[in-house]
Amino acid sequence: EVKLRGLINSIFEDLKDVAEEKDVKLINKVPTDSTVFVDEKKFVILMKNLIENAIKYNKKEGSVTVESTLKNSKSYISVIDTGIGIPKESLPLIFERFYRVDKSRSRNVGGTGLGLSIVKHIAEAHNGKVQVESKLGEGSKFTVILPSGE
Ligand code: ATP
Ligand code: MG
Repeated sequence: EVKLRGLINSIFEDLKDVAEEKDVKLINKVPTDSTVFVDEKKFVILMKNLIENAIKYNKKEGSVTVESTLKNSKSYISVIDTGIGIPKESLPLIFERFYRVDKSRSRNVGGTGLGLSIVKHIAEAHNGKVQVESKLGEGSKFTVILPSGE
């Protein structure tokens, strides 16, 4: 059992410089009593990848919000950005290894295209899954759904 709010705060702290460079605001809306049943080290890797992407593919002066809620014995943890968004036709592909949406738009941002495949793998190892909603030019929302352990 891991306290989620503190875990997100420490990831925000780690990524503070990257976010400041782009003037991206990091907002933690996780309730203080929110807990998740996870392997802490693996879950940090998962969340860090999602938050890194949310910063990296954001716009200048954009924001990244993390929120969580409990519903039907499941934890829903969302990372919401105000970034460039993902084209509809790419949505089924982004969790594949080495897939990157468009080499030209990501040429300025480093990356191998492995992050989201790791995210998916870790979520599944916890009997969970990852959902994505996105609007091109407006932003994306990645939601990790995990058994709440209750
Ligand atoms: P790596 O994470 O290995 O450093 P990466 O960020 O390119 O590299 P993934 O995290 O797997 O790889 O993401 C795959 C692709 O999906 C990205 O290249 C990017 O085009 C797109 N993508 C991922 N997250 C977002 C997001 N929040 N907003 C817009 N596009 C995104
Ligand atoms: Mg990535």
